[in-house]
Amino acid sequence: MNKKILIIIIFISLFMPLTSVAQVDYKALRNEMVRTQIIQRRISDRAVIAAIRKVERHLFVPENVMCLAYNDHPLSIGEGQTISQPYIVALMSELLELNKNMKVLEIGTGSGYQAAILGEIAGEVYSIEIVEPLAVRSSQLINRLGYTNVYCKTGDGYLGWKEHAPFDAIIVTCAPSEIPGPLKEQLSEGGRMIIPVGGQFVQELVLLTKRNGKIKQRSVASVLFVPMLRDDRRRYQ
Ligand code: SAH
Repeated sequence: MNKKILIIIIFISLFMPLTSVAQVDYKALRNEMVRTQIIQRRISDRAVIAAIRKVERHLFVPENVMCLAYNDHPLSIGEGQTISQPYIVALMSELLELNKNMKVLEIGTGSGYQAAILGEIAGEVYSIEIVEPLAVRSSQLINRLGYTNVYCKTGDGYLGWKEHAPFDAIIVTCAPSEIPGPLKEQLSEGGRMIIPVGGQFVQELVLLTKRNGKIKQRSVASVLFVPMLRDDRRRYQ
């Protein structure tokens, strides 16, 4: 064989695997994530599983970490903030026992991924993010993806969103040191709230339920979320 042709063949065969790696099959990664991280860990709510299978998580992370979007851990989304581990998103969504008639409040829009998952499962989603560049980016993405039932705003979620209260469910994806009073007030009768509570290094994921105006709470797991910021502590990180 001509030496030149041989060199070309060797070059192509070396290069081929690289080009196929470059074209990541995100759907396959997502299905594998659902199988190993969600179903095998006993998440059973069908709507939650369907939403996690559908929403393209890689679109919610910075381009340089897109190929890691389906891995079993949180990822940095800039501004010192993170997108939660997929399993935690599924667990918190499942614990809220959502359906299409419900109105949900999310504190900490971040990347917008959890809001999109909620948008698939619930009727209306109200999501608040305190860090403006994140709030702008995530609400643009959510609009672009066509979630007309997800409403976003920039602000301090500690105070909730009074104009749209009460909420059938509240999900908090940043950790305050104690459960904010306004959020308890804005939870509807029979409603459920899932919230990480604690210090910077030790937190408990707490599930609250409101019955006859009384709040009951139980601890679900030990978790680690970014701290809840307040307007006056915005630069604290
Ligand atoms: N649910 C997000 C997780 C983001 S991490 C996702 O799916 O990507 C938690 C987010 O809470 C961060 O973006 C952080 O800026 C935001 N946050 C912190 N304190 C807040 C507050 N008081 N009100 C609203 N958002 C807050």
